[in-house]
Amino acid sequence: MSAIDQYLDSHATRFEEELCEFLRIPSVSADANHRPDMHRAADWVVDQFRRMGFATDVIATAGHPMVYAESPKVPGAPTALVYGHYDVQPVEPLDKWISPPFEPTRRDGNLYARGATDDKGQLFTHMKGVEAWVTVEGRLPVNLKFLIEGEEEVGSQALEKYLEEHADRLACDCVVISDGGQFAPGMPAINYGLRGISYFELRVTGPDRDLHSGSFGGSVTNPANALCKILTGLMDSQGRVTIPGFYDDVVPLTDRERSEYAALPFDEKEYFEQIGLKQGTGEVGYTALERRWARPTFDINGLWSGYQGDGAKTVLPATAGAKFSFRLVPDQDPAKIYEGLKQKIAELSPPGITTELLEFQGAPGVLVSLDSPYIEAAAKGIQHAFGRRPVFTREGGSIPIVTKFHQCLGAVVLLIGWGQDDDNTHSPNEKFALVDFHRGIKASAKLWEELAKC
Ligand SMILES: [Zn+2]
Repeated sequence: MSAIDQYLDSHATRFEEELCEFLRIPSVSADANHRPDMHRAADWVVDQFRRMGFATDVIATAGHPMVYAESPKVPGAPTALVYGHYDVQPVEPLDKWISPPFEPTRRDGNLYARGATDDKGQLFTHMKGVEAWVTVEGRLPVNLKFLIEGEEEVGSQALEKYLEEHADRLACDCVVISDGGQFAPGMPAINYGLRGISYFELRVTGPDRDLHSGSFGGSVTNPANALCKILTGLMDSQGRVTIPGFYDDVVPLTDRERSEYAALPFDEKEYFEQIGLKQGTGEVGYTALERRWARPTFDINGLWSGYQGDGAKTVLPATAGAKFSFRLVPDQDPAKIYEGLKQKIAELSPPGITTELLEFQGAPGVLVSLDSPYIEAAAKGIQHAFGRRPVFTREGGSIPIVTKFHQCLGAVVLLIGWGQDDDNTHSPNEKFALVDFHRGIKASAKLWEELAKC
């Protein structure tokens, strides 16, 4: 056993006690009454880093402070930036908690408290991974920067601005984020991709007032009919989006990815059953996981027009509208999708209506190559601690802050989480399995060693 692992084992109980201390600070970012607690939590984090010889800085913001900490320089070694957050979700409903949210309690191998896994516990694993190196070896093998915010649960506004304005200070080779979970208990994952999104509203206008469908129907373009024609025209019978150029920049799934996904313990039948369905649908030629993680989609999110009340009203509505979005995959460009969509809508629009297209949000997807040495370093760290190689997953949604890190710093983002699906993040009785806490620390300490070889 390495000296570092020995150190981690012999200090395990103290690490738990220290995490409890961190968890006792009720740093609820959404609640203005907790403002002093936000400062207390930030100061607590700073104190930890000072003791490990890091240069630290509390960054004041319009909201809650951020903490920045930087290790002493290791010339020639790569630089990793660790992101985490010390703020937590509100705890209501309080009566649903078995033990009080800010009195950390051990039960059945778990530590129960608000923030146990999201994100204080997971963030703390990386701090203890550092401590082991600094104490045992007297120095880290890599350059480390930590950026820890207090507003993740309320939108990360200050952080986004800071990333835009201080890319130089934060420059790094990779970003390490542990704010998520394993694929299954004891089955750690590296999430190496996120989908992006383009979101729109389409307003269709026809005659200058609602009309009698008997008197006018058949001679006038019905905006509701026209809207349906446009929307259905955006996808073909194979489940493929018809916008010109839509698939031009899509990074295709590799054989390795397809076999990695196929090997996951994912039961399509069970997946559909748990949402009350017998079967699903989607782009022809892909499995449900592939469609969710690595293929773009089109979905209507809202739809309105005409009469919605009781009984019948023979109306030909003057207007119709819909909100819809495309989940994008790397390397689709939201700006290009918008241009193609405008062209396609013009093509699909019948005469007698006008259309107005509003664009709400656009964010590209993120993808790290599975061949990246940083991915391999993370895999080795995880294998060392969990006794098995991680599985490789993607996320169907977007995580705006991850996209922001990727865009502003141009660095590889490593999403490696130690949590589990039933950790009750954001719910009563949040917990962190102590075994995962300690495996996380061990994986983190090994990660610094492996990153040094990149
Ligand atoms: Zn979180």
